[in-house]
Amino acid sequence: MRKLAERAQKLSPSPTLSVDTKAKELLRQGERVINFGAGEPDFDTPEHIKEAAKRALDQGFTKYTPVAGILPLREAICEKLYRDNQLEYSPNEIVVSCGAKHSIFNALQVLLDPGDEVIIPVPYWTSYPEQVKLAGGVPVFVPTSPENDFKLRPEDLRAAVTPRTRLLILNSPANPTGTVYRREELIGLAEVALEADLWILSDEIYEKLIYDGMEHVSIAALDPEVKKRTIVVNGVSKAYAMTGWRIGYAAAPRPIAQAMTNLQSHSTSNPTSVAQAAALAALKGPQEPVENMRRAFQKRRDFIWQYLNSLPGVRCPKPLGAFYVFPEVSGLLGRRLKGREIATASDLALFLLEEIKVATVAGAAFGDDRYLRFSYALRLEDIEEGMQRFKELIEAAL
Ligand code: PMP
Ligand code: GLU
Repeated sequence: MRKLAERAQKLSPSPTLSVDTKAKELLRQGERVINFGAGEPDFDTPEHIKEAAKRALDQGFTKYTPVAGILPLREAICEKLYRDNQLEYSPNEIVVSCGAKHSIFNALQVLLDPGDEVIIPVPYWTSYPEQVKLAGGVPVFVPTSPENDFKLRPEDLRAAVTPRTRLLILNSPANPTGTVYRREELIGLAEVALEADLWILSDEIYEKLIYDGMEHVSIAALDPEVKKRTIVVNGVSKAYAMTGWRIGYAAAPRPIAQAMTNLQSHSTSNPTSVAQAAALAALKGPQEPVENMRRAFQKRRDFIWQYLNSLPGVRCPKPLGAFYVFPEVSGLLGRRLKGREIATASDLALFLLEEIKVATVAGAAFGDDRYLRFSYALRLEDIEEGMQRFKELIEAAL
């Protein structure tokens, strides 16, 4: 057989999705797995959203739609961006796609030429580097540190810029660290982006999951000059517990939105019609379910963050958004546990899954294998059980 394209040979499967698949498979086999790997809310999609999809089906809304999404949905997205983010867009600057992941993919495809550099702060969401490479770009990793709450500083950004730099990827609230950028910090980064003439891809998918009174600020809202160079990405997956519906969107200057639409017209055509009807109901309907989920997440975060910090060898900065904790586990590495060499967080993650049936994602997926990511998108009882198992294992091993 002829070999696959170089692009395919270099591609590895998404590690976050792989862990989740493996954990779900073990659960199906009857194992009592505690799945901290899942990057999706455990709540069901709110009832009124499901009802809207059922109505759409009954009304025969099952055909192709406009490529960039139905107009009422793009209008609702404009209203949302204005209401929540003080951003003024017109519907022809909105492109609805099959999840925020797809929106990011489309944006990178239309913005990057071969060899263009993209600055990605580390730790990063696992799909950014792969998507940059698929678009022919070169990821440039800029480390951040827990001392700075894992935030990229303007001086770090400036130092990483070269004549080939085209784009900066920002993710606030962030996966996997839960860090949330403040307005002043975004102003500093925007200044460098303006100086260096960079595009900014602002992934705001966790906007609604934010704690301790933090405010979500979209970098595009700082100034019209910044807005002109920013692609805002958001969606309904996380806020409305709609990961399986696959609806995300991008808001961008008209030429970019048009190019993304053209690209999409030759790949997926439109996002699924009934899922668009559901997303419309999510954006236009009651927002209480979002707040209820947010409160539940905050309670779980408080518990898991405190618990992890009470364990020897584990250090866990306090996340202010999203639904992940990202403890450093260096104190547990470089030793033998139950006769097995545990050198990296990847070794530890595998060990936890096999020994105590606790699924986590090793930091390697996010660019730093001294950390483990625990999603707290699971019931508090399950979080307690998983933490108990982790604690007993550590105590027995150290
Ligand atoms: N960005 C980040 C940071 C994420 O964690 C996710 C979760 N998968 C996405 C984008 C993609 O979300 P969606 O399910 O809408 O594709
Ligand atoms: N974003 C989630 C995660 O990081 C879902 C999985 C994925 O899309 O990668 O786990």
